[in-house]
Amino acid sequence: MGSGLSTMKGSGTKGNAIAPARGATYGADYDVSEAIDILEAAVGRLSPSEPSSRNLQSVCALLRSMVQNERKGASMPDRLAPMVSVPEALIHCRPPTLAQAMPGGSELDVGVDVPPPLDAKLSMQIEEWSFNLHAVPDAELPALAYGAMIKHPEFSEMDLNKKRLWRFIKEISSRYRANPFHSFRHAVDVTLASSFLVRMVQRRNPEILKDPQYVVALLVAALVHDTDHLGVMNGFLQATRHPLAVMYNNQSILENHHCATALSLLERPELNFLAALPVENQVTIKRFITLCVLSTDVTTHMKFMKQFSALLADSSGASITYDVVMQVVIKAADISNPTRNLEVYKPWIEGVMKEFFAQGDAERELGLPISMNCDRNVVDVSNCQVGFIKFLVKPLFSGLAEFIPELNDSIMPTLEANLAHFAAGGT
Ligand SMILES: [Zn+2]
Repeated sequence: MGSGLSTMKGSGTKGNAIAPARGATYGADYDVSEAIDILEAAVGRLSPSEPSSRNLQSVCALLRSMVQNERKGASMPDRLAPMVSVPEALIHCRPPTLAQAMPGGSELDVGVDVPPPLDAKLSMQIEEWSFNLHAVPDAELPALAYGAMIKHPEFSEMDLNKKRLWRFIKEISSRYRANPFHSFRHAVDVTLASSFLVRMVQRRNPEILKDPQYVVALLVAALVHDTDHLGVMNGFLQATRHPLAVMYNNQSILENHHCATALSLLERPELNFLAALPVENQVTIKRFITLCVLSTDVTTHMKFMKQFSALLADSSGASITYDVVMQVVIKAADISNPTRNLEVYKPWIEGVMKEFFAQGDAERELGLPISMNCDRNVVDVSNCQVGFIKFLVKPLFSGLAEFIPELNDSIMPTLEANLAHFAAGGT
């Protein structure tokens, strides 16, 4: 927010300011809204059959929503406008007829280079639970996510288009907002944690995630699970009657939005890394991605825990199926911050509290009841973490540790130590 995109005025040349980098000094002598008007008029003169017409329309819509998002002094709900609404994205992306669906051609991939393999040291480090992702610069996160994914043999066992996977990852990274917590960095963190847990599960029970579709879907779901997160909770969207709340009937609003945004991007041929797979495999993978992303809604956590506990009690988890494992892995990865060393854990706390308090401030401003953990005037951050660990993190990881006893060697002791730290009033 606040890069001043909507007020691009000043002196200088006009030529190079159409798509300025964030934070750049804008040298244009015009208003960006006027520039978008001109661009839209030009696109309107193109023939609808012109292949670039739809893409240019999408660009106009994106620029306009960016301007709206950046508008100074806009109220909180205005600033929460989706970058591009899902139906709008679908209208622009969807080929008009099935006959034109998914043009296969390798011509789409010309000029796309996948990143080089990860540096050997980094490649080993990312497989450790103690890896400090905060030390990785923003610009390197997409290649790190790509590298972490393709290290899993399942990504080579299936006929996936790696160039499009890379493009998809970059596009997804651009759809994450610069939220204090729900950023692309969090997405990569959840991907690395899921990757770690997948390996643990596979070591423990080589059969359960045997189908490569499970692993591919799970890791892609981890990366996209908070795409275009608005930095506020579902309750806020519901209370402010946000368009997304209306669209999704107040049901897992954000999770539906993350998933639909990611899957709508797969409708773009140049991003569809699944295109060479038989249609039934594509459908299956998308169904698994949806299952995993929707399972990250914490309001469904208690219900899931009940189901998971019952399965664990039944002959020590012998009846646990792949779909339960996929959900437990992504859910655990999503709330895994308290299981890391304090050095890694604390910056995440700082981010999440910043996001919560910004929501609390907006609720105060709008005269709404302030949500739990969001009132900066009363919330005790240490207590907040104690509650988070006791009621959400510890029960889930304890259950997972019954299934993967190796977690008791390092992850569970770290979690206990962090709980003791905050319970003693540590900061
Ligand atoms: Zn998340």
